Amino acid sequence: MAILLQGIGVSRGTAIGPARVLRRGDLEIAEYVLPARLVHEEVARYRFALNTAREQLREIRRSIPKSAPRDIAAFIDTYLLMLDDTMFTEAPVEIIRRRQCNAEWALKMQRDALVRVFDEMDDEYLRTRRDDIDHLVHSILRTLAGQPAVHEPESEHGSAVTGHIVVATDLTPAETVLLFHQGITGIVTEGGGPTAHTAILARSLQIPAVMGVPLAVRLLADDETVVVDGEDGRIWAGLDTAALAVFEERRREAAHRRAALARTREAPSRTRDGVTVTLRANIELPEDLDRIAEVGATGVGLYRTEFLYMNRRDPPDEEEQYATYAEVVRRLAGAPLTIRTLDLGADKGGAAATNPALGLRGIRLCLHEPGLFVPQLRAILRAAALGPVRIMLPMVSTVAEVRQTRRLVEQTAAALAREGLAHDPRPPIGIMVEVPGAALHAAALAREADFMSLGTNDLIQYTLAIDRIDESVSYLYDPLHPAVLRLVHHVIDVGRRLDVPVAMCGEMAGDPRLTPLLLGMGLTEFSMLTTTLLEVKDVITHSDYAHLAAEVDALLACDDADAYYTRLEQFLRPLTGA
Ligand code: PEP
Ligand code: MG
Repeated sequence: MAILLQGIGVSRGTAIGPARVLRRGDLEIAEYVLPARLVHEEVARYRFALNTAREQLREIRRSIPKSAPRDIAAFIDTYLLMLDDTMFTEAPVEIIRRRQCNAEWALKMQRDALVRVFDEMDDEYLRTRRDDIDHLVHSILRTLAGQPAVHEPESEHGSAVTGHIVVATDLTPAETVLLFHQGITGIVTEGGGPTAHTAILARSLQIPAVMGVPLAVRLLADDETVVVDGEDGRIWAGLDTAALAVFEERRREAAHRRAALARTREAPSRTRDGVTVTLRANIELPEDLDRIAEVGATGVGLYRTEFLYMNRRDPPDEEEQYATYAEVVRRLAGAPLTIRTLDLGADKGGAAATNPALGLRGIRLCLHEPGLFVPQLRAILRAAALGPVRIMLPMVSTVAEVRQTRRLVEQTAAALAREGLAHDPRPPIGIMVEVPGAALHAAALAREADFMSLGTNDLIQYTLAIDRIDESVSYLYDPLHPAVLRLVHHVIDVGRRLDVPVAMCGEMAGDPRLTPLLLGMGLTEFSMLTTTLLEVKDVITHSDYAHLAAEVDALLACDDADAYYTRLEQFLRPLTGA
């Protein structure tokens, strides 16, 4: 019987292959008291297991190829540091001695004590650390039990997972790296989400992955053929040969299409009637830069810097940020870099907010906490001395926020000048238009900003009152809602009238089905993940700008809902290929 499971697609691509279900389960832990004379030996046994766990991690570290993203090694270094901490080197030993108990029991007591402390703290970073501790405890317990590591190769004929789609409750980053080197073709996990370490890694390593799939470990069986759609977050199992052949064919077609599109990398991005459209990349990690050249993007239209701040206790200091931004500028070799200043929510910046999406986030948080903002501004201004850099402010809703930021940038530049540090005192400062009030107020904001960029992910969320991460209302999250399109059109129009460049960097910009609609609205600068850039360019080169503009005008003039959707359907029909 065929089954379809739904999760969250966190890394694009389709994988088809046999499943390998990793059943970790909870290890049976014997709990017993020892005679005093054996305590010394038990301590030695624990230390030996700890060393073995350490050695296994070092082995993983050594197996990372030089070309792999730096953060992979950093994850493993963090684990190694944790294993060297007294929480593992001393505390369990102390418990063994004090309670005269076996090593497993002592380690379990220590683990429970640590987890209790983390559970009391409402902090995403610590929750991640809690999972890390569990992973390390399990690996020590495994060696204590004389068990091999979960993913050790089974024979010289290759690993048990080679060519398989791995299904697990959760995977740690270290395990993901090891599995990648053993040749897995896809990942399905019950836990995790798009911002989990493992999801970020899967994207970096280009392994199709779906996370947050309830009961995956129970519902999928070893060696049954599964299909993983890392885009839509779907997993199929139990398909018959005919259905599998359809997916296989689709995957082959996608690969052919990608190869054909790759050849258009150097072609100009121009409509049939000669309008040039700028295509830029959205990046989150410096590693994403590799793909910019592959798709021929004109620099970066959105660099989400908050990724630098995630999964760590202390924010990166000025020097670390400067080194990171400087590397990105250098690697772009003269192409523009748009650095979006920190877009963290109030829940991560200090006091918990009742509604983080409407709270102290984005530019509000930055202006509220200069201690957080100024080091970032200093790092950006310094990196801007090395190449063309623009500053982009997230979540702007008032003119005052832009003016206040400009003053802060001026003061920061003056301080850098006094200190004799090389910098660009006046990089262009633009704003994200992602609050409906800002879109309606675009004319006033455009007079303060050097450029604007439509953040449609949030603009849709706020316009339609749909929490963008709440599954239960996702059916209402509609980029084609007339209210959304009117706001988008209004902002593009204002930009044209006032001669302020308007781009779009929300997900809509990277959806090739929407490209003609956006062109028709007058959008000539798109910024998106590199994965769809060539598809968007393909649509552009087959479009007629003037013709689309007339169609969009007629569409947006419709007040009647039926007329609007009929026209929209006609408008989109050729794009969806229906
Ligand atoms: C957006 O809101 O459209 C956007 C690009 O920013 P983010 O998705 O990072 O909120
Ligand atoms: Mg946003």
